[in-house]
Amino acid sequence: MDGVPIPAKTTPMLLSVVVPCFNEQEVIAITHETLSRVLHDLVAEYEIIYVDDGSRDRTLEILHDIVRDDPRSRMLSFARNFGHASAVSAGLEFCAGSAVVIIDADLQDPPEVIGQMLQQWTAGADVVYGVRTERDGETWFKQRTAAVFYRILNRMSETPIPLDTGDFRLMDRRVVDVLRAMPEQDRFIRGMVSWIGFRQVPVEYRRHARVAGTTKYPLRKMIRFAVTGLLSFSSAPLRMATWAGFSAALVALAGIAYALLSKLIFRTAVPGWAATFVAVMFVSGVQLICTGIIGEYIARVYIQIKGRPLYVVATTDGFGRATESTVTSALRTVSHGASREDRAALVKAKA
Ligand code: UDP
Ligand code: MG
Repeated sequence: MDGVPIPAKTTPMLLSVVVPCFNEQEVIAITHETLSRVLHDLVAEYEIIYVDDGSRDRTLEILHDIVRDDPRSRMLSFARNFGHASAVSAGLEFCAGSAVVIIDADLQDPPEVIGQMLQQWTAGADVVYGVRTERDGETWFKQRTAAVFYRILNRMSETPIPLDTGDFRLMDRRVVDVLRAMPEQDRFIRGMVSWIGFRQVPVEYRRHARVAGTTKYPLRKMIRFAVTGLLSFSSAPLRMATWAGFSAALVALAGIAYALLSKLIFRTAVPGWAATFVAVMFVSGVQLICTGIIGEYIARVYIQIKGRPLYVVATTDGFGRATESTVTSALRTVSHGASREDRAALVKAKA
């Protein structure tokens, strides 16, 4: 050996923030400014990763500008719209942080809450999820359906999923690595994170109205999202199908008994076709619903079996110049789990 000193093992800590964006041209520049300001005060090292989910407006252009001007930001874009869950998954795949925050692009989730999340993380939490105590600027319909949905889901799911929780959360690298290794195509991320376990703690916050732009979750997408949540975390609907079948059969049996009794004892035939018609319609309705429920599960099995990638990346920007060593060593360091000291070193004292 020629006496070159072996460098002390450094533990570069980094906070990654993943922001999925779909047609967010009105808000994305303001979001970047606000996020950067908040993060700058909170942590020593951070990166912001924007995932453009096939936007059809100027989002992509604006993101390239942001990345050009700010070395702490990076972006990737999809070949088409793959959906919020895929965008988040891509962000998790491309980020290097020891801790990762997922946040929407519309500032509905206040970035300031990240400070509280970091505090919990330095105190040893592995997941800090945001719980919405109030939701401003969302329709009564959306708030009510969301509240009912989370309660039904919790009833039916085999994994307890916290109520009134979105994807706004901070996760430690070890949780992110497990999440990345989960191969499911139908990704109900908030449920998957609950399933993983470790120490998960809530942080309450007030959800604001969108700063600009409109929601990208119309009723159609909300229903699909709810179905994904239910079907990927519960097989109760399948059992419900069985019960519906039994109930219909019971009703039919009662009908048969009634018809026989009136014929044999009271000597009056059950009049008319109406009863037959109703019975046939009822039973076939139940059967079709049951077939539909089974079909939903089979469709998901089919999609899973095909094993297509979750998304197709069209462009990336800002990753090359990220100090490659920081990225790889951050990954290496934290795969053993970051120590409390390491975590504290990342978070600035006043955070
Ligand atoms: N989003 C996405 N792909 C989609 C729909 C939405 O990446 O297909 C992003 C969107 O840009 C935003 C986040 O997901 O950052 C949440 O969407 P939105 O605010 O429209 O939903 P809401 O808050 O109204 O439920
Ligand atoms: Mg929103």
